[in-house]
Amino acid sequence: MRIVVTGGAGFIGSHFVRQAIKGHYPGFSDAELVVLDKLTYAGNRANLAAVADSPRLRFVEGDICDERLVGESLRGAELVVHFAAESHVDRSIAGAEDFIRTNVLGTHTLLNAATESGVGKFVHVSTDEVYGSLEGGEAPWAEEEALKPNSPYSASKASADLLALAVHRTHGLPVCVTRGSNTYGPHQYPEKIIPLFVTNLLDARKVPLYGDGENVRDWLHVDDHCRGIALVAEGGKPGEVYNVGGGTELTNREVTHRLLEFLGVDQSMVEYVPDRKAHDRRYAMDITKISGQLGYQPAVTWEKGLAETIGWYAAHREWWEPLKQ
Ligand code: NAD
Repeated sequence: MRIVVTGGAGFIGSHFVRQAIKGHYPGFSDAELVVLDKLTYAGNRANLAAVADSPRLRFVEGDICDERLVGESLRGAELVVHFAAESHVDRSIAGAEDFIRTNVLGTHTLLNAATESGVGKFVHVSTDEVYGSLEGGEAPWAEEEALKPNSPYSASKASADLLALAVHRTHGLPVCVTRGSNTYGPHQYPEKIIPLFVTNLLDARKVPLYGDGENVRDWLHVDDHCRGIALVAEGGKPGEVYNVGGGTELTNREVTHRLLEFLGVDQSMVEYVPDRKAHDRRYAMDITKISGQLGYQPAVTWEKGLAETIGWYAAHREWWEPLKQ
């Protein structure tokens, strides 16, 4: 079996590849994995160092918008797991062009090639951000919720979700969409809140907290996120969307205070900064569908996951210091 993993040198994609090569996903324990990644600022070959010697791994450097390369890479593949994206909301606010190009045109290019080469399953990895924003007290989102994205990032992801589902209905490509919640863990680029704050604090620098810090996110460990995606890749029904949540709802202020506690520093290290434009207030996911149909449950507790993540950044300065410079 051959699996093409786009964006497999990024944070979540590389975790999926490492776990698959190490045999953590029983359905894919013999599969050959082809990573297709452009190595943007967020892509890093070092993320695959632990499995680089595996004869089951092949790395192709290239752009998912490159029709010829995508066509060649997908020929003979049975499964595509599509992680590649521009993924940082703040960057999409500063300029959205790369987001539209990679997230929309790139997904379209992959869907076309997958349809032409008769791929057996296409898993499009998306995000809870496509649903928009909840207020406190509102019920978590289920998969039927209308899409109301607020940032250029989430709008580009929602566009790709709709395209992927339309290609399933129009051309019969067996597509599944996963919508994961805010993910954390090792190897995450130090621009997202947890790795940015941890690495700042390790360097005795202040952490910039947006607005009143009361924005709520549903935290999900990368190991749980990837296991959810693997379950959908194996058993998800074509044409269906699956939420993958972590079940730990916390405000950014709570996350920040836990990080300060872990690292033994006080509140004076927090600098409140003007809020992000159109900052979504709350995300929360209903995971009844993936739990009932595919047996998914988050397994990594917030306390254990966070402690290990902080430990990883503390032990891997050589990984993040060059990125922060
Ligand atoms: P990331 O930014 O760490 O990695 C993205 C990867 O895609 C990088 O390796 C990059 O080089 C590659 N890439 C970017 N543009 C490309 C292109 N044009 N062609 C080929 N490769 C390209 O992102 P991540 O946090 O690992 O997210 C992976 C996926 O999961 C994304 O689709 C994202 O929308 C989704 N997601 C992320 C989160 C989160 O909290 N990080 C939550 C839910 C869903």
